[in-house]
Order: sequence, then structure tokens, then C-alpha cells
Amino acid sequence: MANIPDINGKNVVVIGAGVIGLSTAIKVQERGDYSVTILAETFPTDAKCIKYTSHWAGAHHVSTAGADDLRLQNLERKTFDIMWEMSAPGGEAEGCFLRAPQTDYYATKEENPDLLSFYPDFRRLEAPAYACVPEAVSAVSFSTLNINPPAYLTYLLARFLSRGGRIVRASIQHVAEVLEGGMEAFTGGKSKARPVDALIICVGLGARTLGGVDDKDVYPVRGQTVLLQAPWIEGGRSLVVESVAKTYIVPRRDGTVIVGGTKVENDWFPKARPETTINILERGLALYPELAPPSVRDEREPTVEDLKPLIIEEGCGLRPARKGGIRIQSEWIAVPGSESHVVPIIHNYGYDFPQRRKHSLSCTDSHGGYGFQTSWGSALAALTLLEGAFAKD
Ligand SMILES: Cc1cc2nc3c(=O)[nH]c(=O)nc-3n(C[C@H](O)[C@H](O)[C@H](O)COP(=O)(O)OP(=O)(O)OC[C@H]3O[C@@H](n4cnc5c(N)ncnc54)[C@H](O)[C@@H]3O)c2cc1C
Repeated sequence: MANIPDINGKNVVVIGAGVIGLSTAIKVQERGDYSVTILAETFPTDAKCIKYTSHWAGAHHVSTAGADDLRLQNLERKTFDIMWEMSAPGGEAEGCFLRAPQTDYYATKEENPDLLSFYPDFRRLEAPAYACVPEAVSAVSFSTLNINPPAYLTYLLARFLSRGGRIVRASIQHVAEVLEGGMEAFTGGKSKARPVDALIICVGLGARTLGGVDDKDVYPVRGQTVLLQAPWIEGGRSLVVESVAKTYIVPRRDGTVIVGGTKVENDWFPKARPETTINILERGLALYPELAPPSVRDEREPTVEDLKPLIIEEGCGLRPARKGGIRIQSEWIAVPGSESHVVPIIHNYGYDFPQRRKHSLSCTDSHGGYGFQTSWGSALAALTLLEGAFAKD
């Protein structure tokens, strides 16, 4: 008989089915014989809503890590390597990605643009090449990945389910509900609850209010975007001001293009504001005049009116920012009603808002990033913490 390690079959519950929860659940599942369940209020196949940020991402992989933030650099680069492989021609997830040229224009002096030099085809541009953007004082170009979030999230869910993962829909108020009642508390099962051996918390902005986590350092950074039908756009562009991409254009494989954006701290408004849409289109057109249909550009100077017929959707999402950056950490919590029985909780949520990092000394040691571009790196880090906790158990 095979020698089965005693960690086999441990019952791991991941709370959250955004890009972080799905990637983490997959990494834990693919490690071996853990039995993994994702419990969440919202899943990728649901309609877009303000409580599920992942649907609203751009989403491109363009590093935001500072020169001294080695941990964030590591999370982003690991994720890029995995996604680059996933996006390879003929690969099973190729259709979720567009490998595309990217140009970043800097309106302020960048501390270290060479931090992006790990991207394929990286090069600094000479002044004539960025003269077309009046605000630019320098620019770089490289190749990167643009992700189509709805397609990619659905692919992740399908990958998890097809390998035996289980999902349960529930909105929980306190982690104690899961620890005491197991999944049976939510599925109406009559059998005795199967004990939960570990919880992984990937609830994004939900970490602010989830009992047992109650992390008031988590707050929203609202982002509004416009989705256009513009299949003639092949490359991405960003205008970066003080390390933050103020205006960005992200073409996707399906011929649509995200034009963004805004980054407003502590703004909870759940709907696209019409005046912001116009402002985004004005900035987008200034940075990327080719957004207008070629037939218009052949005849005259395009205006925002020429972009309006291309609009598919105006939307907004709440990025789960966190003072102190992403939380990848483990702790032990007692199972209710049994003081002596403790289980590990692994946290994997939040990100560091670069603007805040730049202006706050308390954040210089933080690590974090935008969720898609750190997702596999933080999933692997969470797995390491989980296995470390089980080893001590
Ligand atoms: C406009 C915009 C552009 C962006 N562009 C990029 C980009 O280009 N690149 C990039 O990498 N990132 C980008 N991001 C950031 C990225 O979208 C987020 O970092 C990422 O989606 C966060 O994922 P998450 O899984 O932590 O959270 P979410 O996607 O919000 O998922 C949270 C999950 O937790 C569940 N949950 C929460 N509370 C509870 C509860 N109490 N009970 C049960 N379930 C619960 C929810 O139902 C959901 O399933 C962008 C975001 C926005 C808004």
C-alpha cells in the first residue's frame, strides 16, 4: 500500500472566489490530496457587481513594485512567469490573454524605470518617440500580458471544478460559522459536520467587515473605466504620474479595449458617474488618438463624440487597498466550543496603493500590488504558510 502522508485529505476552505481566492484554491488543490472548498458570496459566472472587484479589472501586468520592495517584485515576477506560460500559443488558457506591446509615458521623473526591464523587449525610448505625449518627460516600451478578467476568472473556476474542487455559495458574517459548522452549515446537509482543518481568507474588501478578521486597514480605491469595441488597437499605453497610471488603455484579445481610469481612495459609489466617463474618454483620446475608428481619422481630427458609439459598458470597481500592503500571514484560531482545538487561518488579501506608499513612511516596508499581477505569487506564499502550519500541527 502507498505510504500516504498524514496531511492528505485535510479539509481546507478558501473564503472568496475573486482572482485571489481562485488562484489560491488552485495552488492548494494542485499541491496534492487536500480537499479544497471555495465558499463565497459571488462567483465569476455571476453578473458583475460592486462587491466583486475582479470582474472590473483592466487588467494588464505592469509592475508597480518600488526599488526596495523585493517581496512585491518577487510576487509580481512569479505571477508574470506563470501567466506568460499560460498565455503561450496553443496553451489551454491562451484565449484569456493578449500578449501585447506596452508603452508607459512618465509625466514625472521615475525613480527607477529599469524595474520594468524584466519584461520581454524592454527598452527606453528616445525623446522623439514620446514627443506625441506633451506631458511625457520619458518613456519605456516592453511586451506584457493583458488579461480578459471575465474569461480568465471563468477559466480558473472551471480548472478548479474539473479537478474535483467544491464550491459553496454563502455570505458569512464571522469565520466562526465555518469553523463550527463546516460546509454542512451552508448546504443543509444532515450529516455530522466534517471538521475544517484550515481556512484561507481571500475576501478582498470584505476583510474590513468579516467577523474574526475585522481589518479596518482595508479600504476601497474606486476605479472607473469604459469598455470600447475597438479591435484595431493592438498595444497598451499608460500615462504614469508619480508612480500611478492616471490614464491607461488596455486592449483585450476579443477586440474590446478598457480605457481608464480613476483611483479615488475611500470612494464607495457603486455606479459609473457619467461626467467621469467623458473625462476618461477625453484623456484616453489625448493619449491614444487611434482609439477613434480609422475611417474617422482618415477624414478629420477625432473627438470624444467619435468614441461614444464604441461604448459597450461603463463600470467601476472597488480595489481592496490596505494600509501596510497585502496581508499574507497565518494565525491560529480556536474552534468555537472547543478551547483546546485550534486551526490555522491564512490571510491573503489587500494591496498597497502606490500613491499612499509614496507619501507615507509607515508604508515603506509594505508589500502588495494589483491583484491579478500578484495572484499566483501570493497564492504560492499562502500555500507555503498553510503547509508550515500543518507541519507544526
Ligand atoms: C478599474 C480597475 C482596474 C484594475 N486593473 C488592474 C490591473 O490592470 N491589473 C491588476 O493586477 N489588477 C487590477 N485591478 C485590481 C484587481 O481587480 C483587484 O486587486 C483584484 O480583483 C482583487 O481580487 P480579490 O479576489 O482580492 O477580491 P474580489 O474580486 O472582490 O473577490 C472577493 C471575494 O470574496 C467574497 N467575499 C467577500 N466577503 C465575503 C463574505 N463575508 N462571505 C462570503 N464571501 C465573501 C466575494 O463574494 C468574492 O468572491 C483593477 C481594479 C479595478 C477596480
